[in-house]
Parts: sequence; C-alpha cells; structure tokens
Amino acid sequence: MQHCDTLIAPRWCIPVEPSNVVLNDHGVVVNDGRITDILPLEEARQKYQPSAFVEKSGHVLIPGFINVHTHAAMSLMRGMADDVSLDVWLRKGIWPAEERWVSAEMVRDGTELAIAEMIASGTTCFSDQYFFPEIVAETAVDVQMRAMVGTPIIEFPTAWAANAAEYMNKANDLVHDPYADHPLISTCFAPHSSNAMSDESFIELRVLADQLDVRTQIHLHQTTAEIGEALQRTGKRPFDRLHELGIVNASLLAVHAVHMSDSEIEVFAESGVSIAHCPRSNLKLGSGIAPVTRYRAAGINVAIGTDSAASNNTLDMLSEMRMAALLARGTSADASALSANEALRMATLDGAAALGLAHETGSIEAGKWADLACIDLSHINSQPVYDPLSQLVFTARADQVTDVWIAGKHQLDNGKLTHIDTENLLARSNEWRDRFVSSTH
Ligand SMILES: [Zn+2]
Repeated sequence: MQHCDTLIAPRWCIPVEPSNVVLNDHGVVVNDGRITDILPLEEARQKYQPSAFVEKSGHVLIPGFINVHTHAAMSLMRGMADDVSLDVWLRKGIWPAEERWVSAEMVRDGTELAIAEMIASGTTCFSDQYFFPEIVAETAVDVQMRAMVGTPIIEFPTAWAANAAEYMNKANDLVHDPYADHPLISTCFAPHSSNAMSDESFIELRVLADQLDVRTQIHLHQTTAEIGEALQRTGKRPFDRLHELGIVNASLLAVHAVHMSDSEIEVFAESGVSIAHCPRSNLKLGSGIAPVTRYRAAGINVAIGTDSAASNNTLDMLSEMRMAALLARGTSADASALSANEALRMATLDGAAALGLAHETGSIEAGKWADLACIDLSHINSQPVYDPLSQLVFTARADQVTDVWIAGKHQLDNGKLTHIDTENLLARSNEWRDRFVSSTH
C-alpha cells in the first residue's frame, strides 16, 4: 500500500482531457497538491492508503472552473447601479463611487467576498483586473485561491497611481517581480481599454510585457459606443490601433469582443489571440452578444468570464457556462452549435489555455494541480441522471457544489468554506454598503 494525501471517490469523474469522457466509479489520487493518479476505485483502494478518503456517491467531479475575466473587488458594488448602459453605468455609478472609496482596505474586503462566492460555486482560478493588484494577490494567497492578477493601466489618476508610467512601475515592483514564481499567483498587464490608453503607453507596455514574459488582457470591442468613440478620437477602430501597435498576438486575451468584423476575426485566429466571453454581463449592460460560434469555427480559443458582480450580478460559472451554450445555439439556430462537452471545456481547460496555465490546471490529469470541484447531482432538479455531463451543464445550480480543492487543499468541505470566516466577511461587506450608500445620497 502506498500512502497518499487524499483519495476522492465520486460517482462520476469528467476529466475534460481526454475530451467527452465520463469515468464511472473512479478514484482521483492527490499528493502534495497535485493529481498523481486516476484509476478505478476498486484498484485505488487496494493500492493507496489515503490520509483523507472523500466519498461522493451522487456527485460528479470536474476540474474547477476558470473564470477568465472579473474585477473581484467590485463585488462590493453588486446591484449598486443597475438598468443602465455601460457608459452611464461607468460614468454615473461606478467611477464616482470608485473615486471616493477605492483603497487597499476596500480591495481586500471586496476581493475576499468575490473569492468566497467563487469557491462556493466551484471556481478554482480567476483572472482579475483592478486597482491595488498587490492586495488582490495578497488576499488570494491568504485564502489559498489561484489567481491571474492583472495590473491595471489607464492614463488618468486613481487612488493607486497618478499616470500610466506609475501604473507600470508599481505593477513591476509590487506584483510582477514578487510573484514571478509563485505556485498560486500568475500576473499579467491589464490596460483597461484602448480609449483609456495613449499610443506611447501601449508601446511601453509591449516592451515591458515582452521583457517580463507576461501576458496582456484588455476590454476590446465591448460596445458599438466604444468603437464609435475610438473612430472619432483616432480615426481607427480599437482593434486596428492595437494591431498596428503590435499588441495583437498570442499572449493577448481580448475581453468581450462582442463586435468584430470578418477580417478582424481572421486576424485574431492567425495571431492566436484568446477571447474572454462574458455573456451575462454583455446581456445585462445591453452590449450585444458575441458571435462565439463564428470565433470557434475560425479556430479562436474562447474562454468564459463573469466580468464583475457589479455588471452580472453573480460570479457563478455554472450559470455563465449554461448561458454561453444557450446563446450559441439561439444565435446560430443550431441545437448542436455548442455541446455540453464543449461548454464545460470552455469554462475549464480553454480558460487555462487563455491564461497560459493549461500545463498546470484546467483538467483532471496526473501531474496537474489538484484544482477540483464536486457537484451533487442527486438534487431533485438534476434527477434522474442519463448523462452526467449534460446534467451538469443544463441543470446544476451553484448550491449543488459541495466540495472544492485548490492545489489539493480542501477549500469547500460539504458546502462549508474552510479558509474564510463567512460571518466576519458578511459584516464587512455590509459596512461597505453603508459607506457607498452614504456617499451617493
Ligand atoms: Zn471587465
């Protein structure tokens, strides 16, 4: 008998890689934070002596979800400015509140609130872009969550930095350098959008990103208004400007990409750009629906993000994945346009690929981090189970997620968060609500 840290025994296991496979009654073996073996449960019980044996007889085990685009701290602004367009939402709701309240303390509390929601709904890795990114990284490490921390760049001053040069300097000193080789934290540059950046800043960013070998993510072609504003100011569509400045390449994650021309789609495919598809945020803000089936047909890697809880209004990847599958079918009038298998892959392994982490996470394979989520399909709304993959994508709710492991640590144990003091977190969230309300009335 060999010792192992954890042996997880779900009714079904969907590894995502190999694709479209459902394993019945298999054990997943975890050692030192990584998956070391996947084998029939009977064999696993004979071969291994686990410190922890976790049996889940009505559950499906999947790789944890990878949320490729959010602004975690904005969870404190959930529901604060609803029923308006992106432009009004930003200018009248979000930006004035941020100007008044964004601070290290606000980012700390908001990020923890977001992480609590994400872990409880099966997400094991999120890609973030917000001010005080060093606090986002610190908070993720404190509660042992995997994160891709994007360092923001804009031309105007905020509580975090005064100008684009300072955003980039602070990013290097506080985030990219200290976390260059961290097991949980990866980093990238996150210029907000083309309209918030000068050509000079983009050029400097490109040099820095190459030097540090980090990726870049940017909101791109989210709305027709964004494209119109760019045309008016620069005479160019944001995509064309980025392309000319050398930003469109395989290390770019284009967030939203709702409005793209055929020729732009072609260049994306040739360049190896990934797209962060955020369907519910696009719907809620009335931005449009990204042509995901066209992107996928062109060979572009499309991953799924929730965007912030201020424009969604949840960080629940099960709902986001289902919405992506439904919209792809509805917009293409084809019920086979995005299968359950493809939707799950977009929400896991394709997300890892979009962040440059596909060798470390995103599927249940020996050698990868044990980033796992267990979902109870014995609930009434998921019964009976003909096909666990289909039930997962089209019936499962966030409250059916019972267990989550991140790098082998049991972060959600039978529905209970193990590294986060929920009561204290809720008290702090309510204090922030009171502060935000006091400044808007
Ligand atoms: Zn966003």
